[in-house]
Amino acid sequence: MQNHSSVDFTHNNQVPELKNYNLYLSDPALNQLIKKIAPSLQSELSEKGAVLGVESTLRIAEDANQYPPELHTHSRTGERIDFVKFHPAWHQMMVLARSNGIANRCFEDSSHQQQWLAYGALEYMHGQIEAGTMCPNNMTQAAIPVLKKEDGLFAQLESKLLSKEHDARDIPWQQKVSVSIGMGMTEKQGGSDLRTNTTTATALLEQGRGEQYQINGHKWFFSAPMCDAHLVLAKSEGGHSCFFVPRWLEDGTKNPIEIQRLKNKVGNRSNASSEVLFKNAFGIMIGEEGRGIPVILEMATYSRVNCILASSGFLRQAFSQSLHYAKHRKAFGKYLVEQPLMARLLADMALEGQAAMTMSLILASRFDTNTDEFGLAWRRFMTPAAKFWICKRAIEVCGEAMEVFGGNGYVEDNQMGRLFREAPVNSIWEGSGNVICLDVLRAIARNPEDAELVLTNMKNIGAQEARLVPLMTWLSNAVQRIAKQRVEAVEIDARLLTQKLMMLAQACLLIEYANPSIAEAFIASRTDPDWGAVLGVSSTISEADAQRILALSWT
Ligand SMILES: Cc1cc2nc3c(=O)[nH]c(=O)nc-3n(C[C@H](O)[C@H](O)[C@H](O)COP(=O)(O)OP(=O)(O)OC[C@H]3O[C@@H](n4cnc5c(N)ncnc54)[C@H](O)[C@@H]3O)c2cc1C
Repeated sequence: MQNHSSVDFTHNNQVPELKNYNLYLSDPALNQLIKKIAPSLQSELSEKGAVLGVESTLRIAEDANQYPPELHTHSRTGERIDFVKFHPAWHQMMVLARSNGIANRCFEDSSHQQQWLAYGALEYMHGQIEAGTMCPNNMTQAAIPVLKKEDGLFAQLESKLLSKEHDARDIPWQQKVSVSIGMGMTEKQGGSDLRTNTTTATALLEQGRGEQYQINGHKWFFSAPMCDAHLVLAKSEGGHSCFFVPRWLEDGTKNPIEIQRLKNKVGNRSNASSEVLFKNAFGIMIGEEGRGIPVILEMATYSRVNCILASSGFLRQAFSQSLHYAKHRKAFGKYLVEQPLMARLLADMALEGQAAMTMSLILASRFDTNTDEFGLAWRRFMTPAAKFWICKRAIEVCGEAMEVFGGNGYVEDNQMGRLFREAPVNSIWEGSGNVICLDVLRAIARNPEDAELVLTNMKNIGAQEARLVPLMTWLSNAVQRIAKQRVEAVEIDARLLTQKLMMLAQACLLIEYANPSIAEAFIASRTDPDWGAVLGVSSTISEADAQRILALSWT
């Protein structure tokens, strides 16, 4: 019998956890981009990147997910309370998220060109560590531009929306230091086709914008139900309209919104998502009566940018974890990172991540209020395209990252399972894959001149790059075809078009902003006919290239 006390556990080829690292300083591509376009942000991002990567933050993020929220429908005396109780770790993570500005940083000072870029980088870093807390913070951020248009209400809400504090008190929003806002669109019969919504709104006195209504109906998905208010889509006399529906009424009574149950989700477990019943709930009409779908879809546009930034963060975390593991784990006498096939796979993951990060941060920066006509065209056209592609790529890359860990990846002791389960939600919500690709077609059909402007810019950037010419030609022909025909005539090609558009757009952004050898490897591999179904197959990435890409992807 072996004496267990003599077993040496120190040289067992197990990999130490990736911890106590700076998410900003360890990411050379992010550094380079920020240095190039917003050098004044460097010290702030470095400071916040260090806090996010420190071991104590990782433990908090882990606990927030290990101890998911619980629904308490009634008090001990039998009254409805519809209260969701979170583990203290959730609140600690919320404090960090809010103080880092992921609920509002981009709206702090509209004259400041770099607020959106700072916001983008903070989102990207937060997403790498804990994704559930992004939901209430990001919905709050996305609601701000919609609420800004309601002068009276916004005047009361502004300082609370822009506050950097997490105020978890379950009391009327009027009494709070800071507020958070959610979104209620999706009903049982379908979330993509909002025209089928059946929740109703009846005017209490006068009808129209700013007036008081009673809301009745059901929402099948209602995330972050502890938010201080939700923007809710409901049908009034004039058609689908948008309403500001608070959790509490000003007099201290609870607005009658019953949380029926919490969703038992595949991932995103730290965050609560619920099903709710409105029973004569109080709401104030936001925007014009009958224009509720475009009003709430404005919120969705900002949420889409958040999905893109968070998914870019998932791609980065998948890569960082994989590279760390491969540098410490040996097989067949060599570290995994030294094995040519593993090195090519990791390099391919790095390229995907850098392309996604560059696209998402440049997209965020083009949401600045002083963006020119080109920036506006670019963001209209590229937001749905990037939402499709980057959220989808995160699913693929997180799956590969889990496999880099071998069997350890499939065990909950490390965070690969959490990352893998988190990835699909950004692709599903705020426009699932097909729906978002159809939005790309609609954006072209509505403004073909925008699409031409964006493509001309890409043609200028990629002018010297013969390998991109087939993509440019295909896309120009497609834009002309869509401008001439109805969207329905070409909708079957919506995914194909979006994929090609993203290949070209990311290649051009890497030419503009990345290290030239990263841009070269991206273009060579992504235009290689062998690249596609799985990562790590393109022979354009040699062993030496792979090691060079890895050296440029982590410091
Ligand atoms: C974790 C989580 C949290 C959520 N939180 C919220 C929330 O807080 N508030 C909220 O309002 N909603 C929320 N949702 C709901 C989410 O926005 C919807 O699930 C999403 O919009 C899709 O709607 P659906 O589930 O009804 O699918 P459906 O609309 O039934 O779509 C099913 C599939 O059909 C595809 N499809 C639809 N139309 C077409 C077409 N014309 N051509 C081809 N394919 C098509 C879609 O792409 C999708 O893949 C949440 C969802 C999840 C998973």
